[in-house]
Amino acid sequence: MTSTKKVLAIAIDAAEPDLIEKWMNEGYLKNLASLRSLGSFGRLYSTADWLAGSVWPTFYTGTLPGEHGFYHYLQWKSDKMDYERPNPEWFSAVPFWRRLGNSVKVIAVDVPLTFPPTTFNGIEISGWASHDRIYPASSFPKEKINWVIKNFGSPPISEEVGGLQGINDLLNLKEELITANQKETELFETLINNEEWDLSLCCFSSTHRGGHKFWDVTNIADGYSDEQKLLFKNSLRDIYISADEAVGKILTRVNDNTTVLVFSLHGMGVNTTLAEKLLPQMISKILHVQKKSNNGSYLKKIRNVIPMEWRSNFKKRLPLRLQDKMTAYWRMGGTNWSATKAFGLLADLQGYIRINLNGREKDGVIEPGEEYDQLCNKLINGLKTFKDTDTLEPVVQSVERTDRLFKEGKGFKNLPDLLVKWKFKPVTHYKKIVSSEYGEIEMPMPGFNFDGRSGNHRPEGFLLAAGENIKSNSIFEKKHIVDLAPTILQLLGIPIPKEYDGKVLKDILTK
Ligand SMILES: [Zn+2]
Repeated sequence: MTSTKKVLAIAIDAAEPDLIEKWMNEGYLKNLASLRSLGSFGRLYSTADWLAGSVWPTFYTGTLPGEHGFYHYLQWKSDKMDYERPNPEWFSAVPFWRRLGNSVKVIAVDVPLTFPPTTFNGIEISGWASHDRIYPASSFPKEKINWVIKNFGSPPISEEVGGLQGINDLLNLKEELITANQKETELFETLINNEEWDLSLCCFSSTHRGGHKFWDVTNIADGYSDEQKLLFKNSLRDIYISADEAVGKILTRVNDNTTVLVFSLHGMGVNTTLAEKLLPQMISKILHVQKKSNNGSYLKKIRNVIPMEWRSNFKKRLPLRLQDKMTAYWRMGGTNWSATKAFGLLADLQGYIRINLNGREKDGVIEPGEEYDQLCNKLINGLKTFKDTDTLEPVVQSVERTDRLFKEGKGFKNLPDLLVKWKFKPVTHYKKIVSSEYGEIEMPMPGFNFDGRSGNHRPEGFLLAAGENIKSNSIFEKKHIVDLAPTILQLLGIPIPKEYDGKVLKDILTK
């Protein structure tokens, strides 16, 4: 049976609140603008402030990263000294809608970074039209995914291509992302029209991939005409408009007693990350690790002479397990652990540093307590000495110990030890960085985002709520993404689990 309360939650993944506001005000996002005039609007603090990839597990578990520990598609497994894809045996990251029992019926479509769904009261499609797809498309009931593929096609968003891309490839990607939004709309409309539900959730991921790829021209490989440049320049806005149209269509399918939430969990801006480009070298210099000269394996040497876009294309044709092995090997293979005090972890925005801690890492060498504290301080102070050679401004905005930011809950030991926030400056502006204590590091390919991402995350999301139980025409003071799950449960009349870190957003509710 279904309850009388209905909640519809639509995510516009990684949609930047500044752009949402600007384009609502300029009349491009008509459906969102009319929702705003009917309901409550405001911004959300996000765990993307320190751990860009942690936002979806934070949303769907109702807990902060110290508890869920899930922040990247490949994470460090200390008992194996290797990377592994998060999985249900390792992380207890169960989305809240899969734990609601029989009183609430759910439809969930493409919520990112979820494990394949298991038995629950509803229908869930996972990893079909996703940017952050960690497992192949799946569903509950199990065979539902075959129905999706038969009626709406194979997954409409391709794997992300790393490295620089030609302008025509990027313009084709824009069309792919707009089509993906349309197909996702058709799928979700069909489900919410034909099935019973109390809570329905859907995530549109085109805005996420689009933000990484269409922020500016620094990820384009070759030349382009003025006409192509203009098309490219408007691409991100066109993708946002298609997401707004999706929201408009879906809203025609629900009745007035439905509460509607439209949100993003983090935003997007110019790419500022030095995490993959320079951080490993910065750590080596601070810890005086000699770069291996000729004894690096031939596989690593091959990697260094193959352009990233070729590597990326080759790798994505392999099975997931092999892809992960290759990524892990290229990153850490051949490491002499007995001589490694700390190392950089795979990251997308902030820099992540893991200490090779005895008692936690299988091959740990640093003792907890004083030795750990001293090493953290050395790295924190060392990173702060690096400056841009042109402006002499530090490249790091701040470095924090994770144990000072998050409670040491169940997932805490899976988090990095140190988190590095970069100066707010386009990474393409750096040519070289220098430390008076540790020397210089050249920026590879200055002027280009050779990893293929001209945009990267900003730590603010937004929430637009309207309908039953929501205050009309109001702006709320900035709240946190971890408050969304308890607010949805409250709207459904369901008790909020004690272990949740968030609170109900009372400011937006009429009662
Ligand atoms: Zn992203």
